Amino acid sequence: MICPACGSRHFAPVKIEGGLPAERCADCQGAWVELDRYRSWRKSRPEVAAPEYAGDISQVNEPVRVCATSGRLMTRIKVSNDNPLRLDYSAMAQAVWLDKGEWERLLDMGLHDQLDAIVSERWQNDLKHAASRERAEKAMRLRFGDAAYEQLAQMRSWLAAQPNQSEMIAFLNAKAD
Ligand SMILES: [Zn+2]
Repeated sequence: MICPACGSRHFAPVKIEGGLPAERCADCQGAWVELDRYRSWRKSRPEVAAPEYAGDISQVNEPVRVCATSGRLMTRIKVSNDNPLRLDYSAMAQAVWLDKGEWERLLDMGLHDQLDAIVSERWQNDLKHAASRERAEKAMRLRFGDAAYEQLAQMRSWLAAQPNQSEMIAFLNAKAD
């Protein structure tokens, strides 16, 4: 194994907080977590309490990393839209690289038992859709003003609940005589 973060070859098996088995880099203290082991750990784990954590987290603009076992480039993945935390994921190795402190950050966010969901295409797509909805809302608020936007949003959800919504929309679109 070659450490994706610092290039070290010195790894030792550890149980990171909560008893999750991983390989820890002796030089940078990051951890290599295989999703298979993660899943069995999650099935059997006792409840873990979130520790206080206030350390540094990895920066978004760090260089792309190389998978410790396959040598392929890893994918930098978002955890949520409003948190700067990014994890490195190798689809080839089915493993996640956690920099020192990132596991504790996941615990803080209550997402430590969602690691395999976070790396899934579905989670990542949901984040993208939520982000583009937010961007669209911001643009419409700028264009129409907050008050008009609120009215429109209310009208839209009311329309969505009507059985004959397409006729109603056609009516709204029709030019009055
Ligand atoms: Zn390292």
